[in-house]
Amino acid sequence: MSLPFREPAKKSLGQHFLHERGIVEKILLAVDPRPGDRLVEIGPGQGAMTFPLLDRHGALTAIEFDRDLLAPLTEQARAHGDLTLIHADVLDVDFTALAGEGGPIRLVGNLPYNLSSPILFHALEHAAGGAAIRDMHFMLQKEVVERMAAGPGSKVYGRLSVMLQAYCQVTALFSVAPGAFRPPPKVDSAVVRLVPRPTEAVGIRDARRFSDLVRAGFGQRRKTLRNALQAVCGAEEIAAAGIDPQARAEQLPVADFVRLANQTATP
Ligand code: SAM
Repeated sequence: MSLPFREPAKKSLGQHFLHERGIVEKILLAVDPRPGDRLVEIGPGQGAMTFPLLDRHGALTAIEFDRDLLAPLTEQARAHGDLTLIHADVLDVDFTALAGEGGPIRLVGNLPYNLSSPILFHALEHAAGGAAIRDMHFMLQKEVVERMAAGPGSKVYGRLSVMLQAYCQVTALFSVAPGAFRPPPKVDSAVVRLVPRPTEAVGIRDARRFSDLVRAGFGQRRKTLRNALQAVCGAEEIAAAGIDPQARAEQLPVADFVRLANQTATP
């Protein structure tokens, strides 16, 4: 007998369970698992995506923080395939170790929205170069997906856009209305695909330097680069990289951030 999911959704864990089959199908189509792929789901919840992924692919690893969901997930998964459940905070999971020798993993998840940015930055730490993570398909607040995919000049272009786009190809796929979830979130959602670029294509010489520069640039986004970057590099260095020191970070393409970081990195 399968155990029912009796627990009410926990707001503190960002639990909004997907119930619209059509959306699950669209996610599956986007992920398009192939034989041999190593799928890892973040936050399986009550299995809305887990069980269809298992039906389709046969095996899956999932990381869930809510202890109360583990027994019913394990029990119900038996009818669908081979589920390896990891009870952990995803922010503590070392994706590089999880990938191990077996080749890059593919991350999938309807993420807890209260943790979206920390999860994205955590994944990015392991995604750089693509050796540990082949790609990621995430459901997030639509507003976050818009920030992730925004280009220079957009009001929502910021640190998240530059950091993610420097290391990954970011594609917003489709929007999802609140009614697709129980309970419905207060905001619209969207599904996004991130594909890590190979290290040569990223071209960043010093990851720390790049991250510091982007953080400083957008720390005071209304300031000119000359002022915003004062603590990290001088106006002459900005100009020497072919960038107008009077410009603002929100106008600067990702490639300019990379060039500036590389030219001002200590050898
Ligand atoms: N995938 C399910 C679905 O689509 O119906 C659930 C999605 S729900 C938005 C987010 C899931 O992430 C919940 O199951 C929640 O318990 C889990 N979660 C929240 N914080 C977590 C964390 N730090 N680490 C791992 N899982 C977490």
